[in-house]
Amino acid sequence: MTTTKQELYSVLLQLRETYQAKLEQMEETNANAIDTNGTGYTNHQADDATLVYDQTVDASTFKSVKTRLRQIEDAVTRHEAGSYGECENCGREIDIARLEAIPYTSLCLRCAETRDYRAGM
Ligand SMILES: [Zn+2]
Repeated sequence: MTTTKQELYSVLLQLRETYQAKLEQMEETNANAIDTNGTGYTNHQADDATLVYDQTVDASTFKSVKTRLRQIEDAVTRHEAGSYGECENCGREIDIARLEAIPYTSLCLRCAETRDYRAGM
């Protein structure tokens, strides 16, 4: 059974929710990490410090989640504008299997490969 673009729209909305929650959680975690840093109001300071350290989100992870969320939002916008599923580079229809795998992609496989190659990835 083939996934329709309408179904992918629901997937995108779910993804957007997931990533928004993830981002909020990260912001909260970092805010908490800063708040509890050095205040020492518990008896398990060392454990807490380790926990905070583990949970603190580093800038690159934070940035990649933000970027992903923007890609998802862009895809939602394109869907609402009726241009979802068209490659933004060459204008060809993006393969539905590719959209199933990466619902927020804005490039067809060929353009994505060319771009990655050029970017040296
Ligand atoms: Zn293309």
